Amino acid sequence: ATPTALLVGTGRGAQLGILIKGPEVLESTRKIDTVVLDKTGTVTSGKMTLVEVHTAPDTDRSELLRLAGALENASEHPIAKAIVKGAVEEVGALPTPEDFANVEGKGVQGIVDGHAVLVGRETLLAEWSQQLPDDLAAAKAAAESEGKTAVAVGWDGQARGVLVVADAVKPTSTQAVAQLKGLGLTPILLTGDNETVARQIAAEVGIDRVIAEVLPAGKVEVVSRLQAEGKVVAMVGDGVNDAPALAQADLGLAMGSGTDVAIEASDITLVRGDLRAAADAIRLSRRTLGTIK
Ligand code: ADP
Ligand code: MG
Repeated sequence: ATPTALLVGTGRGAQLGILIKGPEVLESTRKIDTVVLDKTGTVTSGKMTLVEVHTAPDTDRSELLRLAGALENASEHPIAKAIVKGAVEEVGALPTPEDFANVEGKGVQGIVDGHAVLVGRETLLAEWSQQLPDDLAAAKAAAESEGKTAVAVGWDGQARGVLVVADAVKPTSTQAVAQLKGLGLTPILLTGDNETVARQIAAEVGIDRVIAEVLPAGKVEVVSRLQAEGKVVAMVGDGVNDAPALAQADLGLAMGSGTDVAIEASDITLVRGDLRAAADAIRLSRRTLGTIK
């Protein structure tokens, strides 16, 4: 490939809001056949809102919001931000946790006002022998069947509530997936979220293949496994937990709205956080290389 054509290609990319790390990146883009898309913050806006609060019969709603909100205040996760916002709106200022730990891909745990509090996946609470009562489990299942994310809340040894947050598909994602398919690429939705939510979002944007309930460390393994099957893989992501997978992929594309770690690990940054730019980037590299050969 002549460097000039590649430089012209990267320059054209910049005009389209596609920042390419170096001219050689365009070459690796040519053989891509599979595009792995992170769900939260990539296909969806990642801006979640607290939409439902379910409490066990003996549990006070304000206390649930106060304890869960206080703990989530120490987390950066989009789910945490939605819970904090909803809690502050309803109960006002939140206490500072005496202790806090992030449990990767599962939730948060800590001490608030002397209570040992857990917020996260049902499996996190199960690790502490906290089981959701039937009506809470039903509320959680109903929310998930609608594509919402439900997290469980427990303290002092008991599961006591379910908080439901909803994240909307970005208005441009459906069109972007159609464009990727139009380029002959196979899109795969990859997420730490549960299978039901993932399938719902995938159906909404037209993705057939879903890999869900993947722990943050597992995302890179998914990419390696696809490569071992002979696929040439592009990965699009935004989060800290996507960074190793973005680096492992044959082509890593970070959302400009994403974290610095994700951007650093990637070959290409989609400045506007619009997934359609991923299709633009692949089309651009094909065209650029087409003019060379
Ligand atoms: P994704 O890959 O979709 O960005 P993560 O790996 O960050 O998801 O999280 C996976 C799941 O773990 C979430 O869907 C949620 O159920 C739970 N979780 C993670 N962090 C938190 C948190 N701070 N509060 C509540 N639940 C959480
Ligand atoms: Mg994400």
